[in-house]
Amino acid sequence: MINLETPRKFEFLVSQAHQVATEIFRSNSRKYDRDEHGYPRELDMLAAVIDGMNEGGALSGAGAGGVGEGNGSKPGRDGNRNASNIASLLGLIELSWGDVGLLLTMPRQGLGQAAIAAVASEDQLKRFGGKWAAMAITEPEAGSDSAAIRTTATLEGDEYVLNGEKIFVTAGDRAELIVVWATLDRTQGRAAIRSFVVERDNPGLILERLEHKLGIRASDTADFRLENCRVSRDNLLGSPEIEPKRGFAGVMQTFDNTRPLVAGMAIGVARACLERTRELLTDAGVEIDYDLPPHAQVAAASEFIAMESDWEAARLLTMQAAWMADNKKPNSLQASMAKAKAGRTATDIALRCVAVCGSIGYGEGELLEKWARDVKILDLFEGTQQIQLLIVARQLLGKTSAELK
Ligand SMILES: Cc1cc2nc3c(=O)[nH]c(=O)nc-3n(C[C@H](O)[C@H](O)[C@H](O)COP(=O)(O)OP(=O)(O)OC[C@H]3O[C@@H](n4cnc5c(N)ncnc54)[C@H](O)[C@@H]3O)c2cc1C
Repeated sequence: MINLETPRKFEFLVSQAHQVATEIFRSNSRKYDRDEHGYPRELDMLAAVIDGMNEGGALSGAGAGGVGEGNGSKPGRDGNRNASNIASLLGLIELSWGDVGLLLTMPRQGLGQAAIAAVASEDQLKRFGGKWAAMAITEPEAGSDSAAIRTTATLEGDEYVLNGEKIFVTAGDRAELIVVWATLDRTQGRAAIRSFVVERDNPGLILERLEHKLGIRASDTADFRLENCRVSRDNLLGSPEIEPKRGFAGVMQTFDNTRPLVAGMAIGVARACLERTRELLTDAGVEIDYDLPPHAQVAAASEFIAMESDWEAARLLTMQAAWMADNKKPNSLQASMAKAKAGRTATDIALRCVAVCGSIGYGEGELLEKWARDVKILDLFEGTQQIQLLIVARQLLGKTSAELK
């Protein structure tokens, strides 16, 4: 049975994350929205504090790096396990409430660590664990269809040689490591796709440009060329054997853990929008009365209550998906449902909040306009809205990706 209270052991984590979100993220929000490629130095100090807290166990599993199949916790007396997936989700909701662009460029919190945590060997965990790791899947000809990637990895002696192009790599220029998806053999399709850890200072990893974006401007988004980029064969994550039945499933499973986290980011941004809108409505003398039916109160109040209930539905789905991961229950369906629902709902809420607050909501005097720009990416990366719905449909109808495209 799911208990929807915040587990007591995570209350400290949530309150710490909220404090960081308030004091560091919010206060630098507008600054790095305007200074698009400026490096947010304020976060370096924060990373050092977080490292210290992680070593002390206070924040264990609070970032993307810790997620996995119920890592780090034994079930309680009721058989219920709240571990790294729920901890990460709760922390990320708070931090995204502060500023999701800054969260995405927080040192050592890259989504690449989720891929490392999911499949790395003991030795690889020692070498790569705790480092800032970006994730490079997307290519000019492979976005939603990640099985179409063309970057190749060829074994030469004790090294893999990577060649290809990677675009839209979040934190690509700032991270210490980049987890690059490449194919061992293009004739073998998705089964031959593997991920490789590439050090950012590898001379074969060439930065082509940094993107200019609608939102999350604090977070850098890099395009790379891989030109005879040599990595040790020990940098391949998982097994080098090509197993036609399994290969791709292995790398795709990372998404079951990361999609609820991205959904959580959307929940955090939408909560920020709702809270600020409530304050502005209250200042304007609008009373939100939960005991009155929609037709008996002003339009803005009934609009607010409708948005809030939609937000709550998205939040519960997201909690369920993360809770299932912690409790070792297959959650692909719920992870995609949560991502689809939260991404769409949060984008909708952000724009409706701008509308409800009128010209105040649209102006730079408020962060509402920024949140409305920031939130869209959460319905796009880690699988777009349409792709999540496709995955849900496949699962419900029992169809393969070849049968339902
Ligand atoms: C700011 C930003 C940061 C990013 N960070 C990363 C990162 O760190 N690492 C990384 O690897 N990638 C990253 N991406 C890439 C992102 O994951 C892709 O943009 C996304 O997967 C979509 O791919 P695409 O842009 O090629 O669009 P396409 O796949 O070309 O899709 C275009 C449109 O068609 C729709 N569509 C596609 N196929 C179908 C279908 N079968 N059925 C119905 N509709 C369909 C899509 O939903 C979309 O609306 C980032 C992107 C952005 C903008």
